Amino acid sequence: MEIRDITLDLVGNSSVEFFPEDYSGAWTLRESVSRKGFGLHTGKESEVTLLPSNKFGFYFSSLDDLGPPLRLEPSQVVNSQLCTTLDLGSKKLFTVEHLLAAMAGCGLTHARILVSGNEIPLLDGSSIEWVKAIKEAGMIKLNSSFNRSLVLTDPLTIYRGSSFITAMPSDSFKLIGIIDFPYPVIGQQMFSIELTPRSFVKEIAPARTFGFKDQIESLIEKGLIKGGNLKNSLVCDGKSWLNPPLRFKDEPVRHKLLDLIGDLALVGLPKAQVLVYRGSHALHVELADSLSKACSFKQFCLD
Ligand SMILES: [Zn+2]
Repeated sequence: MEIRDITLDLVGNSSVEFFPEDYSGAWTLRESVSRKGFGLHTGKESEVTLLPSNKFGFYFSSLDDLGPPLRLEPSQVVNSQLCTTLDLGSKKLFTVEHLLAAMAGCGLTHARILVSGNEIPLLDGSSIEWVKAIKEAGMIKLNSSFNRSLVLTDPLTIYRGSSFITAMPSDSFKLIGIIDFPYPVIGQQMFSIELTPRSFVKEIAPARTFGFKDQIESLIEKGLIKGGNLKNSLVCDGKSWLNPPLRFKDEPVRHKLLDLIGDLALVGLPKAQVLVYRGSHALHVELADSLSKACSFKQFCLD
């Protein structure tokens, strides 16, 4: 199967240089930007508008029920079996992880998210359409603002059954993902990356969500994946992909890291080396919560 470098096609010819070099600064959007699309699980159309903000963190407001913006945090996660769902008081919001991965991955630290409906649109099943939206809006560095960096001082490990995630203190944000599926077309995959906004856009953001043909029927019976189709999810029958070509030969493990970044975005990206073996949203969110408690929040004023 031919695999080609698709990043230039996906983000346009100014490629990755547009994005910040690293995660040290505080960044918001230059202007607002909107995208509309269908949710993976609800199958319903919704609209998301991303707006500039001068407050650290990602703040949610509902277009259906305008209340004060609510800061997103791990304690709002109520269901993480197949996607990350937040209970935001006035509404439940499904499948936030690919949008949040794009925001944190591109280096945004201050932003508001306005949503109509109950699910973030799946778009092409990866984060790249959100990356394009962020590029379209533009990013500006906040000069007189605070950035908060999660600095880990001791190793932290969380495990559930044979799955585990461990975070080690580090000067930068490094990720190592390992997946191990019984399906030969996926099998064992490992991917490691020193994450920067630019490496995120190039190596992680284009990786799409994936599923298994033999599980589709039971998910539909449970009222899930109403908006799933062969254009927004990679599907395999175990031995082969039903909708090739893949964007990367190891696209599934890269997508797992994308999901992890989206879940960690609830607290911000840590200065840590994170290794995840057979990860899940539940495990990621538990790490995000533990990181926010275990890390010292280093506040520093930017020039
Ligand atoms: Zn995902």
